Amino acid sequence: MPELPDLVVIRERLLKELPGEIIQEIEILDPLVVRNLSGGKSETSFIGSIFESLERTGPFLNFKFGSKNIVIHPMLAGKFSLDPKYKKKDLAIRIKFQNKILNYADDVHMGKVYFTEPEYFSQIPKFTDQGVDLLSENFTQEEFLKRIEKNRQQTRVFLMDQTKLSALGNAYADEVLFDSKIHPKTPCNKLSEEEKIQLYQSIKSVLNDSIDYIRKKQAPLDFKVRDHVKVRNRKNEPCPRCGTTIRRANVLGHDSFFCPNCQRVPGEQFIDWNKTL
Ligand SMILES: [Zn+2]
Repeated sequence: MPELPDLVVIRERLLKELPGEIIQEIEILDPLVVRNLSGGKSETSFIGSIFESLERTGPFLNFKFGSKNIVIHPMLAGKFSLDPKYKKKDLAIRIKFQNKILNYADDVHMGKVYFTEPEYFSQIPKFTDQGVDLLSENFTQEEFLKRIEKNRQQTRVFLMDQTKLSALGNAYADEVLFDSKIHPKTPCNKLSEEEKIQLYQSIKSVLNDSIDYIRKKQAPLDFKVRDHVKVRNRKNEPCPRCGTTIRRANVLGHDSFFCPNCQRVPGEQFIDWNKTL
């Protein structure tokens, strides 16, 4: 579930609760999520460690305990919660602090948890080769244009390439393309300079607006806030901009949702079969 805006808010909320807390117990309830690295730490070596900070690296959350780290890549379905009432059978990991309990659940076992130290970070798949962080100062228009220039990938595939842009998932890739009125399959090298600049601005505005929205919503930490999205998972609903029925297409193995009227393939004649002629 968590994409960039979700992780920003999860991080902010955990940082209000956990600093200074000391780990008393770590229960691994679903061993499938724990990935061992050579030289990795056992979870028991974290007992007595003090929570210092929480950093986000692209789609990863890095919990820092002195020289040790718990790095979590929640992928599609990972959820965090501080609610002590969570049942153990529904959890992957439970970390008991003196005054708090941090739960991590993952229904589809796709997320990954690493008990480790910084010198082993390079062994964590995708952790050290993330592209420019989309919320950092380094993500400038100039930097974006440099990365998209001469690229021949379909625009949606480019947007989701974490080694270039860190990081857009399925939901926000669709939202960014809708905002910029670009068809998901348009090859990057077919975009005009204006469209590329619009794409950059849409990435910034969609992410920032979504972070503000999720922050204000104050939903439970493990609740997926998605009611603000305009096209994602809205197949057969009307486009909020023009009323045309939203469609779903497969773009390199991923479902993509878009408005066939607002987001046209360059040169394509659009016939709206939903409207009576
Ligand atoms: Zn539309």
